Amino acid sequence: PARLTTPERTAEDADAALRPKSLDEFVGQQAARENLRVFVNAARSRGEALDHVLFFGPPGLGKTTLAGILAREMGVGFRATSGPVIAKSGDLAALLTNLEDGDVLFIDEIHRLNPAVEEVLYPAMEDRALDLMIGEGPSARSVRIDLPRFTLVGATTRQGLLTTPLRDRFGIPVRLNFYTVAELEQVVRRASRLLGIDLTDDGAVEVARRSRGTPRIAGRLLRRVRDFAHAAGSDTVDAAVADRALGRLEIDKLGLDAMDRRYLLMIAELYNGGPVGVETLAAGLSEPRDTIEDVIEPYLIQLGLIARTARGRCLNGRGWTHLGLNPPSGSQS
Ligand code: ADP
Repeated sequence: PARLTTPERTAEDADAALRPKSLDEFVGQQAARENLRVFVNAARSRGEALDHVLFFGPPGLGKTTLAGILAREMGVGFRATSGPVIAKSGDLAALLTNLEDGDVLFIDEIHRLNPAVEEVLYPAMEDRALDLMIGEGPSARSVRIDLPRFTLVGATTRQGLLTTPLRDRFGIPVRLNFYTVAELEQVVRRASRLLGIDLTDDGAVEVARRSRGTPRIAGRLLRRVRDFAHAAGSDTVDAAVADRALGRLEIDKLGLDAMDRRYLLMIAELYNGGPVGVETLAAGLSEPRDTIEDVIEPYLIQLGLIARTARGRCLNGRGWTHLGLNPPSGSQS
C-alpha cells in the first residue's frame, strides 16, 4: 500500500500546480538559492549556458522544481527525462541532438543511467560533442558531432550513488536539506492559497510540523486534511481539525507514519536497539534497501532517533523515548 507520507511522487500528486516558478517564489534552501542566483546572473551576463548542475537529497525536497526554475531564470527551454527511461545510448543521442541552444536537460534519478548511456554523457557534458559509431565491423569509424550549448541538470537522492567520472563533470553540485517547520509553514500557506483552502495559523503549524521536513508531503497532507474538514462539514482547517485528521491517518506528532514506526520497533524489539544491518531491516520490512536508505532513514537520522554506524543501525535514546519504551539495561544508547 502506498504510504501517505511517501516523499516519492505518486500519480495523484498535483505537484505541478504547486510548483514555484522562480527562485524568489521558492521557499527555503537559502544558501542553495543564493548561490544559484549568482551563477544564473553570471552566466546570463556572459551570454553563456549555465554550468551543469547536480541536485542531491531526499525525494520531495524540490530538485525537479529547481531544475525548471533554472531554465526559466535562464530564459531557455526545459526538457525532462529520467535515468531508467533512457534505455540505449541512441536514445540519449537523440535527446541531445534535439536540444536548442542553451536548453536545460533535466535527468532525474541520474544514478540509474546504464553505463553505456553514461559514456555518451561524458563528452557531451565536457566538450558538447557526441561520438557516434558509423557502420559495423572493419569499416566502422567514429564521427564526432557538435552539440548545441546546453545545461545538464541531474537529480539523485545521494551524491555517493554517482560514479566519480559523472560526479566530476558537474560544475555546480547542490545539496538539498530537509525544511524547517517555519519554512514548511510558508510552503503550506502558499499551497492553501493556491488550492483555495481556508487555513488558520495554528492549522499551518500543525501540518508543517508533521510533514517530515518535505514540501511534497506538506502539500499532500494539506489536501487530505481538507478532505477530513469537508467530511465534517467545515471549510476551515485549524490545528484541531488537522490533528484529528492526521491522527486518523496514523501520522504521529513528529510526522512519522506506520512504516517509520515499524522500522523503529523492529530495531527496538527484535534487535534490542541494534546495531542491525540495513539488509536485515530491508528483509524484515519487505522494503527495498534503497527505500530504507533514501526515504525512511534520512529523516529518522535528522530527528536523532537512530544512528547509522559501521556495524549497523542503532536506536538512540530519543528513539526509545519516542516509542514510549525503555532501552534495555546495559545498552550503550
Ligand atoms: P523532488 O524532485 O526533489 O522529488 P519536486 O521538485 O518534485 O521534488 O517537489 C515536490 C513538490 O513539492 C512539488 O509539488 C513542489 O511544488 C513542492 N515544493 C518543493 N520544494 C518547494 C519549495 N521550496 N517551495 C514550495 N513548494 C515546493
